[in-house]
Amino acid sequence: MKSNKQKRKEIKEKRLKKAQKLSKVIDVYSSRKIPEGAVLANKEVLVLYNNSPFPVYPRFYIDKLFICKDCYSHEIWTAKQQKWWYEIAGGRLEQIAIRCRSCRKKETERKNSARKIHLDGIAKSHKEV
Ligand SMILES: [Zn+2]
Repeated sequence: MKSNKQKRKEIKEKRLKKAQKLSKVIDVYSSRKIPEGAVLANKEVLVLYNNSPFPVYPRFYIDKLFICKDCYSHEIWTAKQQKWWYEIAGGRLEQIAIRCRSCRKKETERKNSARKIHLDGIAKSHKEV
């Protein structure tokens, strides 16, 4: 019997391999054939968020590989996550995933606590005046 952790690891490795293959051969901007597992891009929404004078929009999203900036683990930015980021969250096209989930969480916490310290500092200095 395989443990769940092992299974998850195997699934992740499989997906990594598949994404590696895809990212080498597919041009999301000009490919005529939409690959299996791709998520179609909605150009009208992309135009709203990315009003560059020479816009180039992806026709679809495919799972992308990236290496986490902080822990160097190999990660997948899934097609669905990209669609969400670019078309719902309003992310710009030049922005891509740079941190894995757990490092992103840590980074958010770090930022929040830095902001809190900053705001506490301001509050304190106001009291002293
Ligand atoms: Zn990481």
